[in-house]
Amino acid sequence: MKRYLFLLILFINLLPRAFNEEWSWQCSSMYAMYGEIPEVTIIPDPKPKPDPPQPTPIPLPLPEPDYPTPPDPGIPSWWEQIQNGNSGGGSSGLPADLPTTDAQKQEFVRKIIAAFKKFGVDASKIKIIFFDDGQICMARAQLLPTGEIKVCLRFFYLSEADQISCFNHELYHKNHDKETTESRTGKFAINIPEEYYPVLKILDEEEFGGSIPPYLATEEFKNYLDIQESIDILMHPDYYQNEINAYEDQLNNNDLPISDTYRKECEYMLWRSKELFKLATKEFKK
Ligand SMILES: [Zn+2]
Repeated sequence: MKRYLFLLILFINLLPRAFNEEWSWQCSSMYAMYGEIPEVTIIPDPKPKPDPPQPTPIPLPLPEPDYPTPPDPGIPSWWEQIQNGNSGGGSSGLPADLPTTDAQKQEFVRKIIAAFKKFGVDASKIKIIFFDDGQICMARAQLLPTGEIKVCLRFFYLSEADQISCFNHELYHKNHDKETTESRTGKFAINIPEEYYPVLKILDEEEFGGSIPPYLATEEFKNYLDIQESIDILMHPDYYQNEINAYEDQLNNNDLPISDTYRKECEYMLWRSKELFKLATKEFKK
């Protein structure tokens, strides 16, 4: 009985193989029957038809003039460059040493800690936030309400010595500021003295990623005549007093010398803080 069962199983196993061989044989014979292509002789047309008339090419519009267009005032051009992965240097107009990779950022933090160690300041506990955190800041650096120090894009246009001084300005705020959050809205203005026009020019160029925007390149703006800054929000006088104290400390700090260009900028910021302090004192007395 077992032997018959074995033979039955063997038969069932061999059956499909026999069928497949039959099938493959059929395929090859069909190929033999229809695989040969009959020879065809092409006789050329004695009167070739002329080519159909080609449509007249339409001239393409000329490319846009090759000069930068003013960006949306809300989003500086450099912000888009960073979002597109441009890491600075070259012809991008962004600072050459812009730390964008984690390794570059860690190296920057190490540099700051080492610089402050020389003055007996332990900066290792301070959390540093980088410019590409998704929040645009137009300052060089900022002390955030959380106590972290944010280094903005403009920070990296400064030389190393100026960077250390700028960072120390934020540390000064962290250790000395009087807390204040009050503000008043209105229409206020300050007239900027001519001696600070070169500072404004640098700040404007940096805002546009190092390239001079078209409106600054025109004669009208070259000399910054009669510049008036309009202000919509005035902070509490204590806010401006905090700035006055920090800039005075920065300008008189012999341990952290700064370049003449950056000194002029700090002098301008000190002057501006004093003007706004006067306006705010008047406004908050009302
Ligand atoms: Zn400040």
